[in-house]
Amino acid sequence: MIRNPLPWPNGARCAVALTFDMDADSILHLAHHATADTRVAGMSALRYGPEVAMPRLLEMYRRHGIKQTFFLPGWCMERYPQAVEAVMKGGHEIAHHSYLHEHPNELKPEEERYWFERALDVIVKMTGAKPKGYRAATYKFSRHTLDILLEHGFDYDASLFGDDVPYILRSAKGTKGDVVELPSHYGLDDWPHYQVSRDFNYIMALKAPSQALQVFIDEFDAAWEHGGMWISVWHPFLSGRLARAHAIDNLLEHMQRKGKVWFARLDEIAAHARAMMAQGKWQPRIDTLPYYDGPIPELGVAARGALVKP
Ligand SMILES: [Zn+2]
Repeated sequence: MIRNPLPWPNGARCAVALTFDMDADSILHLAHHATADTRVAGMSALRYGPEVAMPRLLEMYRRHGIKQTFFLPGWCMERYPQAVEAVMKGGHEIAHHSYLHEHPNELKPEEERYWFERALDVIVKMTGAKPKGYRAATYKFSRHTLDILLEHGFDYDASLFGDDVPYILRSAKGTKGDVVELPSHYGLDDWPHYQVSRDFNYIMALKAPSQALQVFIDEFDAAWEHGGMWISVWHPFLSGRLARAHAIDNLLEHMQRKGKVWFARLDEIAAHARAMMAQGKWQPRIDTLPYYDGPIPELGVAARGALVKP
């Protein structure tokens, strides 16, 4: 099913990374700057992430003996330093996830760069090292994001959906270097299953954790069967709630029972992909970004009338 499967270490059938984006209340301040302080219940639901879910998840990882990757917005790191300390103490990776969860593709290029570098400074100051990886907030990777990542020497990105295994991103603008893309997709995101919030105007039928888990298990079983990769995009305030965390525990047991799974941090997966390429053991697919510089010319003003009916 996969044309260019990446040989995983020690004969593993697939790579697994349970990645969490600890957005906390950054998303509420971004969406409702003037009134976020008045939305106390919504705020408490988001603060559940760093306050209650993070210690629970870190303890679960410790119990299962795995090291994983956390994407932390810079503002959340400043606001919840105890979460940063706990992640580092557990031997997990901290990766770049914007400053206040701003959306890069809705910003001017100079604004995107400002917030990107402001978040980068926070990570360097609080962890003592530059992060290797990046995930755009809400997957809103812009036409300029790749060049910023290349200029700052980032090793990998985990914002896009374009394959089942790692692939390579190169810049159409000629910026030197490349970035390993570690893709995921909405089938591995917890937001569609669990988020219900009047503050975000997001009201959906809630899933039982066992139903959501079935989606994640099906994704895992297919990755295991075909030599793929399984990267969750989960949020402590959603998946870290009690019954859902209990479901994750069951999922980890399912994975470990099945065996031949490489549990890894994303920086380790990116480094492995680069090593296999360097040794000539694996040929990645290459995407050159941006795909387009602007709207396609075929749909100009004259043509639009014919194609788009009122
Ligand atoms: Zn996020």
